[in-house]
Amino acid sequence: MKTLPFDKSKIEEIIKKYPTPFHIYDEKGMRENARRLIKAFSWAPEFREYYAVKAAPNPSLLRILSEEGFGADCSSVAELVLSEKAGVTGESIMFTSNDTPISEYEYAKKLGAIFNLDDITHIDYIHDRIGLPELLSFRYNPGPLKGGNAIIGIPEEAKYGLTRDQLFDAYKMAKERGGKRFGLHTMIASNELNPDYFVDTAELLFDLAAEITEKLGIDLEFVNLGGGLGIPYRPEDKPLDLDYIGSKIGEAYEEKIVKRGLKSLKICLESGRLITGPYGYLVSTAIHRKEIYKSYIGLDSCMANLMRPALYGAYHHITVLGKENSPLTHEYDVTGSLCENNDKFAINRMLPEIEMGDLVVIHDAGAHGHAMGFNYNGKLRSAELLLREDGSVEMIRRAETLDDYFATLDF
Ligand SMILES: *Cc1c(COP(=O)(O)O)cnc(C)c1O
Repeated sequence: MKTLPFDKSKIEEIIKKYPTPFHIYDEKGMRENARRLIKAFSWAPEFREYYAVKAAPNPSLLRILSEEGFGADCSSVAELVLSEKAGVTGESIMFTSNDTPISEYEYAKKLGAIFNLDDITHIDYIHDRIGLPELLSFRYNPGPLKGGNAIIGIPEEAKYGLTRDQLFDAYKMAKERGGKRFGLHTMIASNELNPDYFVDTAELLFDLAAEITEKLGIDLEFVNLGGGLGIPYRPEDKPLDLDYIGSKIGEAYEEKIVKRGLKSLKICLESGRLITGPYGYLVSTAIHRKEIYKSYIGLDSCMANLMRPALYGAYHHITVLGKENSPLTHEYDVTGSLCENNDKFAINRMLPEIEMGDLVVIHDAGAHGHAMGFNYNGKLRSAELLLREDGSVEMIRRAETLDDYFATLDF
């Protein structure tokens, strides 16, 4: 059962000031989830979630998450600037980039970010130009040692990370070139709902950390389990049990790190989807109903506001406000206005009968929703609103205007 942190009358009040379409984020839900995650790892000597900024790159959200104790995971200079502006700097930033230009490494170094390198050649690429930072980490790609999942694909086919052999060479090289403190990272899943997948990943990293200490005499400071924690997009999906994941990883830590007498490791995550995904909603108005070979409901939003359904065929649940308990009597394709036939939020979806002017809410749009927005076909990105814990609503990003769209042209 999918629920909402607002009802029809609340949205009717909001649209008097902020017309649809807009994204709205639920501060209370987001904070409670952040606390659940931290609690699940309370056994750890140290735990830190570096929120993957790309999920919803808004400084207001970053500030809320930073208040809850999260750092930021960045992979571009814009994301670094955003974190900096939100007051997240130094080792609170994990710079997990790939195919990175030196100018971006330079900015990351200026901020004091943790460098998480995607390739062995980046050691000299950085060393020869700007010098290595003291603290760095490598992204491990386990290749054939680990099965993949649908979005990232199988690790052998993924462009990310270092092979196992390269990893050992990389620590040696980095140490010779001035690296002093080290971490280890991997990220091999995306939107994964099987909790044991993350426990397996942790075990793999703990074993590898032990081997690195044994073979190279390097004590790692942290292991970073990456992101990829999935969320229940479909009403029948079960959310990940964070307490289960945390406690199972705790057992593995005891077995593989503590019992081997290794130095304690900080446990890091760089989750994005789990942090904002379920707490963001795209609110639109139904503006057209069209009956041809199928029944279509046209919204005032389009895939420029949320492209996951068009891009991956992703399911996003839809609620028609005020009709939460009405029977699902009508089968619709719910569409946007782009001149692309894949601009559909839902295909053959059973919904209550929709009338023009109905407010339609698309769930789980808080990650990779507004963030993936684009301007193709002259579509403007919508505003982002924040539903505060006290029920008040704040605009945290205004909607784009035609002037924004034309800003790079000189007529
Ligand atoms: C996208 C990304 C994440 C976050 O992934 P989620 O699936 O949102 O948890 C973390 N790290 C890196 C390097 C990423 O590219």
